[in-house]
Amino acid sequence: MKIFNTLSRRKEEFVPLEPGKVKMYVCGPTVYNFIHIGNARPMIMFDTVRRYFEYKGYEVNFVSNFTDVDDKIIKKAIEEGVDADTISKRYIAECKKDMEGMNVKPATKHPLATEEISGMLEMIQTLIDKGHAYVAADGTVYFRVKSFKEYGKLSHKNLDDLQSGFREIKVTGEEGKEDPNDFVLWKPKKEGEPYWESPWCQGRPGWHIECSVMSKRYLGDQIDIHAGGEDLIFPHHENEIAQSEAANEKPFAAYWMHNGFLNIDNKKMSKSLGNFFTVREISEKYDLQVLRFFMLSAHYRSPLNFSADLMEASKNGLERILTAAERLRELAGKTAGETLLESEKEQEAALKALVEKFEAAMEDDFNTADAVSALFEIIKLANTTASEASSKAYVSLLLDEIQKLCDVLGIITERKEEILDEEIEKMIAERQQARKSKNFALADEIRGKLLDMGIVLEDTREGVKWKRV
Ligand code: AMP
Ligand code: ZN
Repeated sequence: MKIFNTLSRRKEEFVPLEPGKVKMYVCGPTVYNFIHIGNARPMIMFDTVRRYFEYKGYEVNFVSNFTDVDDKIIKKAIEEGVDADTISKRYIAECKKDMEGMNVKPATKHPLATEEISGMLEMIQTLIDKGHAYVAADGTVYFRVKSFKEYGKLSHKNLDDLQSGFREIKVTGEEGKEDPNDFVLWKPKKEGEPYWESPWCQGRPGWHIECSVMSKRYLGDQIDIHAGGEDLIFPHHENEIAQSEAANEKPFAAYWMHNGFLNIDNKKMSKSLGNFFTVREISEKYDLQVLRFFMLSAHYRSPLNFSADLMEASKNGLERILTAAERLRELAGKTAGETLLESEKEQEAALKALVEKFEAAMEDDFNTADAVSALFEIIKLANTTASEASSKAYVSLLLDEIQKLCDVLGIITERKEEILDEEIEKMIAERQQARKSKNFALADEIRGKLLDMGIVLEDTREGVKWKRV
């Protein structure tokens, strides 16, 4: 299996640290709002990487954090007049709902920065003791970049170039730095901010130290894969390497994987341009499986453009897969024969070759675009060769393979009737609540929304009944 390693800038054969096991860390979102569709890209793509390893029989220990202390969270908390914890807990819960909708598996562990402070204090102390960090007069602790000779090896930046770039810049509040490249490990609290006790000052951790510590705690000093969006290469991942390798005195991650950016209609997604979508907004228009399928249509390292047309195309593509699977399930109920017919042997070989094509695409740095094409060829084979005249063995074989490959891609081949039912029940409960509190406008709005989705409500003596029209 080949993986493009940002560290070497080339595809390398994957060799796990421990045979049969993969230790993987993916930088998770900062939770101050609903996640946007850009954040969904690393979630979906690295979940697919994990699923492929599992398909190949690896045991994957997959850790992904939530950054739950940060300036943006604090700002939002102040705006709403609540504490930072209320904001982060709320958006972690919302993020988990979106992940479920996108069929992203929960990580083996989702650590929270605020629950890992003691580990951070420990690593910072180790870095100070080893001469890799120092305490400024105001209690800020900085990492001494010059002390780590390999600084820049991930982003392929040269410390001297970085140095000249910084020469003119004096940042207020950072006068205590020995060198402009040094970065914060611990910073003093500001009025109204959450803080923790430390030997240096009451304060909170810098962002980069979180991931070094959480990765160490749940995966050990050395891991196989560390991943995230390409914007994290510098400075976040470069700094993580410096911290972890300086503290642990071992190479940190063997492979660094970075996804390309998602743009909207060929422009950078931004709130000010008005082309910013949360996953939740997309879920109002599409099943989130469609969003997942759309992401899979491109290689994870390529830039990806999001547009309504491409989403429609993904919706149609997904529909073709679901329809084929549904037809095979029906055929499995109608056909007989536990062994393949003579005439089906050739088709079995064709199917096997296509499964190999799928695997070869995935083993070439997880080329999901080509893997999806191979899957479509299998769908075509199923549509053109399986019929009521087929053996049950052949129909089941096709269905099994399609099912397995869709599992790798995280595509659910059954239409989601029950989930939809759950959503309906939830909306009905919200409508009942609105009626109870005499908010009839809201109650009517919910009834209208349900009607738009083809659901008719009937208020009866036994309660509310609903049916699809
Ligand atoms: P953040 O909450 O900004 O730290 O982002 C969480 C993850 O989403 C990181 O891995 C980012 O690199 C990734 N990310 C953010 N925006 C985009 C985007 N537009 N396209 C792809 N990945 C993104
Ligand atoms: Zn990180």
